[in-house]
Amino acid sequence: MAIYNEVQLQRIFIGKLKHGGDLLEELTSVCEQNGISLGRIEAIGAVKKARLCIYNQQARKYEFFEIEEPLEITGLFGNISLRDGKPVVHAHITLSDAHGRAYGGHLAPGTVVFACEFTIDVYKGQQLRRAYDEETGLPLWKM
Ligand code: ZN
Repeated sequence: MAIYNEVQLQRIFIGKLKHGGDLLEELTSVCEQNGISLGRIEAIGAVKKARLCIYNQQARKYEFFEIEEPLEITGLFGNISLRDGKPVVHAHITLSDAHGRAYGGHLAPGTVVFACEFTIDVYKGQQLRRAYDEETGLPLWKM
Protein backbone atom coordinates (compact mmCIF):
# COMPACT_ATOMS: atom_id res chain seq x y z
CA MET A 1 0.00 0.00 0.00
CA ALA A 2 1.29 3.45 -0.88
CA ILE A 3 1.59 5.95 1.94
CA TYR A 4 1.40 9.62 1.05
CA ASN A 5 0.45 13.14 2.08
CA GLU A 6 -1.02 16.16 0.37
CA VAL A 7 1.19 19.27 0.59
CA GLN A 8 0.97 22.89 -0.55
CA LEU A 9 3.56 24.88 -2.48
CA GLN A 10 4.87 27.53 -0.11
CA ARG A 11 7.96 29.15 -1.68
CA ILE A 12 10.13 28.77 -4.79
CA PHE A 13 13.87 29.42 -4.99
CA ILE A 14 15.72 29.73 -8.30
CA GLY A 15 19.45 30.32 -8.68
CA LYS A 16 22.88 29.07 -9.63
CA LEU A 17 25.58 27.31 -7.68
CA LYS A 18 29.17 28.44 -7.37
CA HIS A 19 31.79 27.16 -9.81
CA GLY A 20 33.96 24.45 -8.27
CA GLY A 21 31.61 23.61 -5.40
CA ASP A 22 30.38 20.15 -4.48
CA LEU A 23 26.99 19.71 -6.16
CA LEU A 24 25.24 17.79 -3.35
CA GLU A 25 26.78 19.86 -0.55
CA GLU A 26 25.88 23.16 -2.26
CA LEU A 27 22.25 22.12 -2.75
CA THR A 28 22.09 20.94 0.88
CA SER A 29 23.57 24.28 2.04
CA VAL A 30 20.85 26.24 0.23
CA CYS A 31 18.28 24.15 2.14
CA GLU A 32 20.05 24.59 5.49
CA GLN A 33 20.48 28.35 5.04
CA ASN A 34 16.80 28.82 4.23
CA GLY A 35 15.24 26.38 6.66
CA ILE A 36 13.96 24.17 3.84
CA SER A 37 12.97 20.73 5.16
CA LEU A 38 10.28 19.61 2.71
CA GLY A 39 10.28 20.09 -1.04
CA ARG A 40 11.48 19.11 -4.48
CA ILE A 41 14.56 20.08 -6.38
CA GLU A 42 15.64 20.08 -10.00
CA ALA A 43 18.73 21.32 -11.80
CA ILE A 44 20.57 21.44 -15.10
CA GLY A 45 24.12 22.49 -15.95
CA ALA A 46 27.51 20.83 -16.16
CA VAL A 47 30.03 19.18 -13.86
CA LYS A 48 33.82 18.82 -14.00
CA LYS A 49 33.58 15.23 -12.74
CA ALA A 50 30.98 13.09 -11.07
CA ARG A 51 30.64 10.62 -8.21
CA LEU A 52 27.45 8.58 -8.18
CA CYS A 53 26.22 5.37 -6.64
CA ILE A 54 23.78 2.56 -7.14
CA TYR A 55 22.15 0.67 -4.28
CA ASN A 56 23.06 -3.02 -4.37
CA GLN A 57 19.76 -4.53 -3.23
CA GLN A 58 21.24 -7.92 -2.32
CA ALA A 59 24.27 -6.62 -0.44
CA ARG A 60 22.19 -3.73 1.00
CA LYS A 61 24.86 -1.15 0.43
CA TYR A 62 25.63 1.67 -1.97
CA GLU A 63 28.28 1.00 -4.59
CA PHE A 64 30.07 4.16 -5.68
CA PHE A 65 31.62 4.99 -9.04
CA GLU A 66 33.35 8.04 -10.49
CA ILE A 67 33.35 9.57 -13.93
CA GLU A 68 36.50 11.65 -14.27
CA GLU A 69 35.55 13.91 -17.18
CA PRO A 70 33.44 17.00 -17.95
CA LEU A 71 29.78 16.08 -18.24
CA GLU A 72 26.50 17.84 -18.95
CA ILE A 73 23.76 17.59 -16.31
CA THR A 74 20.86 16.58 -18.51
CA GLY A 75 18.61 16.16 -15.50
CA LEU A 76 18.75 16.25 -11.73
CA PHE A 77 15.62 15.48 -9.76
CA GLY A 78 15.26 15.05 -6.06
CA ASN A 79 13.43 15.75 -2.87
CA ILE A 80 14.16 17.31 0.48
CA SER A 81 13.17 15.88 3.85
CA LEU A 82 14.67 15.48 7.32
CA ARG A 83 17.03 12.83 8.64
CA ASP A 84 18.21 13.09 12.23
CA GLY A 85 16.72 16.60 12.31
CA LYS A 86 18.75 17.90 9.35
CA PRO A 87 17.64 18.59 5.75
CA VAL A 88 18.66 15.82 3.36
CA VAL A 89 18.68 16.24 -0.40
CA HIS A 90 18.00 12.90 -2.08
CA ALA A 91 18.81 13.42 -5.75
CA HIS A 92 19.24 11.29 -8.84
CA ILE A 93 21.11 12.62 -11.82
CA THR A 94 21.60 11.88 -15.50
CA LEU A 95 24.80 13.15 -17.11
CA SER A 96 25.97 13.06 -20.72
CA ASP A 97 29.50 12.91 -22.10
CA ALA A 98 31.01 14.49 -25.23
CA HIS A 99 29.39 11.80 -27.39
CA GLY A 100 25.95 12.19 -25.85
CA ARG A 101 26.23 8.94 -23.93
CA ALA A 102 24.40 9.01 -20.63
CA TYR A 103 25.37 7.97 -17.13
CA GLY A 104 23.04 8.00 -14.20
CA GLY A 105 22.61 7.20 -10.57
CA HIS A 106 22.15 8.45 -7.03
CA LEU A 107 24.09 11.70 -6.58
CA ALA A 108 26.94 11.37 -4.08
CA PRO A 109 29.37 13.87 -2.57
CA GLY A 110 32.36 14.38 -4.89
CA THR A 111 30.52 15.72 -7.95
CA VAL A 112 32.15 19.06 -8.81
CA VAL A 113 30.07 21.91 -10.26
CA PHE A 114 31.15 23.60 -13.48
CA ALA A 115 27.86 25.48 -13.77
CA CYS A 116 24.48 24.66 -12.30
CA GLU A 117 21.07 26.29 -12.40
CA PHE A 118 18.57 24.99 -9.87
CA THR A 119 14.99 25.38 -8.76
CA ILE A 120 13.69 24.37 -5.34
CA ASP A 121 9.99 24.17 -4.56
CA VAL A 122 9.33 24.40 -0.84
CA TYR A 123 6.28 22.58 0.47
CA LYS A 124 4.13 23.20 3.49
CA GLY A 125 2.56 20.15 5.10
CA GLN A 126 3.33 17.21 7.32
CA GLN A 127 7.11 16.90 7.66
CA LEU A 128 8.63 13.76 6.12
CA ARG A 129 11.44 12.15 8.11
CA ARG A 130 13.86 9.43 7.05
CA ALA A 131 14.50 6.42 9.23
CA TYR A 132 15.93 2.95 8.73
CA ASP A 133 13.60 0.67 6.76
CA GLU A 134 13.91 -3.04 7.60
CA GLU A 135 12.59 -4.25 4.25
CA THR A 136 15.14 -2.45 2.10
CA GLY A 137 17.94 -1.40 4.42
CA LEU A 138 17.44 2.17 3.19
CA PRO A 139 16.64 5.36 5.13
CA LEU A 140 13.08 5.74 3.84
CA TRP A 141 10.24 8.03 4.86
CA LYS A 142 8.27 7.19 7.96
CA MET A 143 4.85 8.75 8.33
ZN1 ZN B 1 18.66 7.42 -4.39
